[in-house]
Amino acid sequence: KPVIIIVVGMAGSGKTTFLHRDTIKYKEVMKQFNLGPNGGILTSLNLFATKFDEVIQVIENRADQLDYVLVDTPGQIEIFTWSASGAIITEAFASTFPTVVAYVVDTPRSSSPVTFMSNMLYACSILYKTRLPLVLAFNKTDVAQHQFALEWMEDFEAFQAAMRSDESYMSTFSQSLSLVLDEFYKNLRSVGVSAVSGAGMDAFFEAIEASAEEYLETYKSDLDKRR
Ligand code: GDP
Repeated sequence: KPVIIIVVGMAGSGKTTFLHRDTIKYKEVMKQFNLGPNGGILTSLNLFATKFDEVIQVIENRADQLDYVLVDTPGQIEIFTWSASGAIITEAFASTFPTVVAYVVDTPRSSSPVTFMSNMLYACSILYKTRLPLVLAFNKTDVAQHQFALEWMEDFEAFQAAMRSDESYMSTFSQSLSLVLDEFYKNLRSVGVSAVSGAGMDAFFEAIEASAEEYLETYKSDLDKRR
């Protein structure tokens, strides 16, 4: 069976570039239903969700020819992660195929400790919401290396030191949050990639394979129990 990779991340993190494909024509949906951009995207997602058994069927029919299925998610991350349709689609995949989440991070834009922490807290909430294995893909490494991120994730004292030297550092609250994140980091794999140059893709798919194993060992039985 192919591994389903649900690609999520903040707008502009590079999801579409990573997938090398065009986006859905939600502008048609906006016109037809007389909606604004967010309403258009959400309605497209809802329409898509109602036909989702057909999508699963198409993938199943070609299962022996596919290693991976990459799933792009709509521009604004919360439309997918916090909507009923997003949950239905995620659940439909996860109950049929080994499914993992790839969280794409805009590395150059996450170099300040506060932004980095906000981004990681978002990834953390997605891990808890989907209950699927998660791979952090630090994108745009052709512009900025992700070494700083690995250091902060491995050594939370290094992260706290960086926080203290950041002017926007404000409270002990952020220190407590960094302890929470320390626990979160133990539950995931992280790789540096460049959607533009293709660097890091081997390591990315290795992390996906390991996560798919983890899905079969842990998540699948947990999922079955919840049903
Ligand atoms: P999305 O909103 O997450 O789908 O992000 P896009 O794929 O539209 O990318 C946002 C911007 O980042 C675009 O200008 C891309 O060309 C750029 N971008 C995406 N991936 C990379 C990368 O690996 N390196 C660099 N330098 N730019 C990238």
